[in-house]
Amino acid sequence: LKSIAVLTSGGDSPGMNAAARAVVRTALYEGVKVWGIRGGYHGLLEEDMFEMKSRDVSDIIQRGGTFLGTARCKRWKTPEGRMMGYKHLTDRGIEGLCVIGGDGSLRGASLLSKETGIPIVGLPGTIDNDVWGSDYTIGCDTAANTIIDAINKLRDTASAHRRVIVLEVMGRNCGWLALVSGISGGAEYILVPEEEYNLDEICDNMTEAYKKGKRYILVVVAEGAGSGQEIGQYIAEKTQLDTRVSVLGHIQRGGSPSVIDRVRASQLGEQAALALISGLSDIVFGYSKGRVVSIDLHDAVNNKKILDPDYLHLAKVLF
Ligand code: ADP
Repeated sequence: LKSIAVLTSGGDSPGMNAAARAVVRTALYEGVKVWGIRGGYHGLLEEDMFEMKSRDVSDIIQRGGTFLGTARCKRWKTPEGRMMGYKHLTDRGIEGLCVIGGDGSLRGASLLSKETGIPIVGLPGTIDNDVWGSDYTIGCDTAANTIIDAINKLRDTASAHRRVIVLEVMGRNCGWLALVSGISGGAEYILVPEEEYNLDEICDNMTEAYKKGKRYILVVVAEGAGSGQEIGQYIAEKTQLDTRVSVLGHIQRGGSPSVIDRVRASQLGEQAALALISGLSDIVFGYSKGRVVSIDLHDAVNNKKILDPDYLHLAKVLF
């Protein structure tokens, strides 16, 4: 292809900038025109797009968020909306599109490809690490590091007061963030949407542990596994232990991307641009066992990722 475009969509994540930058610079390096679309699918429908030069992606690799902007767009869920987006691309001679976003954004991309045949390559951009076929999504590492930073601080104050700390982290359908941050933060309990838990049993264990002299207990809860507030209140009432709840919220989305997120996002962006230029379509680039892999776009959106059973087991052993 001779002209491609890139957009970021859905929830932003640290490293999206590095990915978009790599798409742009790779395309220019290969002598291919590249357009930036502002504000995701919404921007495409509003024709908010511009041809990009190398300088347009200067000074962004270190920034969280997305310089292209992102949005949620209801009209994209209709075939008419997507057809209009297609027209706005072809009007400018754009022959292929790179979509950087989460599950929903990739689903929207897969429909556009099915309906119009325009070449599409997706990159998984979400802190949740919930895209099927890939061990990694752009931003998950930075978010996990942000949570660890919070856990370190909470542990200091928890140990000073002999408290139970309940920390709610993001992850509506996927417990990956809770699991890895819980393991690396040394949490006593990690509650994830993928696994049932028995709060009464947990409370009994906590009471026992305190009797034996435990100084404090950390519970990491993925938002999809329950409300941190409600779980904290339940524990406080049942155990009579001094319990505090922290809900980390949007802090997890922001921040300067980690080395891993910068390097991986750059590599995925490069692969996405090269694939589009060579005419490939309907793939998502991700990582498996430390290497870049391509995943079928439709498989990626039609399958649900499961939590790594080795990590789940490890969490139980280290508890
Ligand atoms: P994320 O990409 O982070 O999962 P969303 O689920 O909000 O975020 O999706 C972002 C955008 O992708 C939506 O606003 C919509 O424009 C598009 N999208 C999501 N789901 C679909 C779908 N089922 N069909 C078409 N477009 C969709």
